[in-house]
Amino acid sequence: MRKPLDPERTQATLNEIAQRMAGEVNRGEVADYIPELADVSLNQFGIAVAPLEGPPLVAGNGDVPFSIQSISKVFGLVIALEHVGATLWRRVGREPSGDPFNSIVQLEFERGKPRNPFINPGAIVVSDIVLEHQPDGSDTHPVLDLCRRLADAPEIPVDEDVFASEVATGDRNRALGYFMLAEGNIKGDVRAVTESYFRQCSIAMSCRQLAKATRFLAAGGEGQDAKIAAVTSERVRRINALMMTCGCYDASGEVAFRIGLPCKSGVGGGVVAIVPGIGSIVAWSPGLDEKGNSVLALRAIEELAHGLDWSVF
Ligand code: GLN
Repeated sequence: MRKPLDPERTQATLNEIAQRMAGEVNRGEVADYIPELADVSLNQFGIAVAPLEGPPLVAGNGDVPFSIQSISKVFGLVIALEHVGATLWRRVGREPSGDPFNSIVQLEFERGKPRNPFINPGAIVVSDIVLEHQPDGSDTHPVLDLCRRLADAPEIPVDEDVFASEVATGDRNRALGYFMLAEGNIKGDVRAVTESYFRQCSIAMSCRQLAKATRFLAAGGEGQDAKIAAVTSERVRRINALMMTCGCYDASGEVAFRIGLPCKSGVGGGVVAIVPGIGSIVAWSPGLDEKGNSVLALRAIEELAHGLDWSVF
């Protein structure tokens, strides 16, 4: 049985981890295929835990905003499911891909149906649905709006420099979009759909804000956060299952083995982990491993989960 969260012990563990990570030499490499991300200082580490009740516990650079990147795919999925329900799964699969997040080969073999919503082509289909249902005249991106409401932080921005950088270097994502258009799996304009996708990836949030915004996934579809995200307990279970099996791209199996919690990473260096019934964890450090997952964020979550005996297994 899992023990309930003890705020003092958790805070002390977070402080110890943040101190240890500050002294780490092997920090990975920043993502440089998006030029704007290459300028982020490697020397940062932040962590936060949002318990189901009470304020988040934060350590290190846990209040520094970073680019949430692929973590936005979780919020996009929540919104798309709200619009189209289970019919989404006619257009996107639910299997781990075993390939890099921006790979194009599998998509050709599988006739334009992406393996899952957390690799880029899957998230681009999800963006197509989100954009199609965006009310006319609304100028806030639905994912930004959801993040702001869940984190109770209306100041959360899209980083326009990161966005411009992604648009300028986004040919591979546009290629995925055009390929799926040719296969009939994108309905909108590929430029508009990929820009909507880049915009959600460019949202900047701190560990504290992101932990608050993902806490509904630990609450089993109960409580105020679940009402904001309009998410049922069944949907929460399924999103967690997808995070566990597909959330860290082609390292998802390894991350499940090491950490034992549903996780979602992004190339900005953030990782979200869900401890069902207890709370959400977000760790951030910009240095990535060769699969695009933050080296120190994964290590920190692993240490925290083991230290406090948090696992779904
Ligand atoms: N915006 C990034 C991309 O499309 C997101 C990738 C990621 O975080 N894995 O390449």
